[in-house]
Amino acid sequence: MTKIRIGILALQGAVQPHKAHIEALGCEFVPVKSAEQISDPSLNAMILPGGESSTMLKLISTFNLESALKNFFDSRPVWGVCAGSILMARHVLEQQQKSFALMEYDVLRNAYGSQLESFETKLSNVERAVFIRAPQFTNVGPQVEVMASCENKAVWLTQGKYMTTSFHPELSTRVPSECHDYFINEIVKKN
Ligand code: GLN
Repeated sequence: MTKIRIGILALQGAVQPHKAHIEALGCEFVPVKSAEQISDPSLNAMILPGGESSTMLKLISTFNLESALKNFFDSRPVWGVCAGSILMARHVLEQQQKSFALMEYDVLRNAYGSQLESFETKLSNVERAVFIRAPQFTNVGPQVEVMASCENKAVWLTQGKYMTTSFHPELSTRVPSECHDYFINEIVKKN
C-alpha cells in the first residue's frame, strides 16, 4: 500500500517538529513551499503550521501561492495549527487580516495577552497542550464540532475535512500526539 503523504506548508514557523508525529503514524512528511509542490496530486492532506500568520500571508502573496493553496483546500483535508488556524478562520477580528475562511469560526489573534504569552495545560483528551501567543476562537458555527476546550473556550475544532487547533500538538511529548492521530486516522483516511 502506498504511504499517506502529508504536505506541510514550509514558508515559516514550526514545520520540522511535525515530522516525528507524522512518521509515527506511518505517513510521509512532505514540506511544501512552491506552487508546484503544493499542486502535487499525490499529497493527501496539508498542515498549516504555527508561526506568524501575517508573515505567512505576506510570503503566500510574494510567491503567488494563493490559487494553488485554494485548489488544495477545496479538495483535500487541512489542519491549521495556531497561526495556521488564523489562516483557516472565517474572519480575523479587530484587524484587517485576510483569511481563507475554510471553517465557521472567527479568531482573535494573541488573545491571551502579552503577560501570558505561553502556557501549558492538560485538556480532557490532550495530555499536554502548549499555547504560544495563541489565538482564541469565537462565533463557532453549528457545523463545527468542538473536540476540546480550555477554560470554556474551544481550542480544537473539526468541520468535515478541516481541523484547527489554537495550541501546538507538534510540541507534545506524546508521539504521535492525540491531534496528529485524530487528523490522520479520523479525517485524512475518511475523506
Ligand atoms: N500570534 C501568532 C499569529 O498571530 C500565532 C502564534 C503561533 O502560531 N504560535 O499569527
